[in-house]
Amino acid sequence: MMAAAITIRSALPVRATVAAKTRYTLYRADLRRDFFQACGYCGDSDERIDRIGFHIDHFAPKALFPDLALVYENLVYACRFCNVGKSDHWVGTDPAVPNNGKEGFVDPCTADYEQHFERLADGRIVGRSPIGIYAVKRLRLHLLRHELLWNARRMRAVRDDADALITALEQEGKGDTSEALDLLKHFRELTKSIEDYEFRANN
Ligand SMILES: [Zn+2]
Repeated sequence: MMAAAITIRSALPVRATVAAKTRYTLYRADLRRDFFQACGYCGDSDERIDRIGFHIDHFAPKALFPDLALVYENLVYACRFCNVGKSDHWVGTDPAVPNNGKEGFVDPCTADYEQHFERLADGRIVGRSPIGIYAVKRLRLHLLRHELLWNARRMRAVRDDADALITALEQEGKGDTSEALDLLKHFRELTKSIEDYEFRANN
């Protein structure tokens, strides 16, 4: 049996019904909540990135469809890399038709979004369909940063497990003598300093 493909995002964003606002930038908090603090396109979390670095993308570009500039259902919480890559690209002339089956985009809030992409075991994002391949190229989902940030999240999860193990070993009174404990502490220290670089590099 083939293993299920790893999804790009950790959850499918769902846009809530929100009261109309007079400027699209006022939707930022709503979008951040509905997109689980992560880019709708690549899944990068804003937890380690300055939130100013996160943009509000107009799925159907506002330059082409100004009537949709304030429509919440047309907005996507997006990292600046995806937003800048997507720019005003749009196939066709209908805002309701985001792709032609070969090229174009898929609304990141639709259930079939993930079917067009796959995250490889090493963290890379690749297209699984012609639209997916098109979108990876346009949004530059192949950038190393997406791979790096995903692996950094995994590293933090392992580090949290190591933290728990350190606490347990110390409680057992093995604190002073265990080489394994020293190694774990060294690992924890190094991962924390790498995290600090990651944070500073984004601010
Ligand atoms: Zn992104």
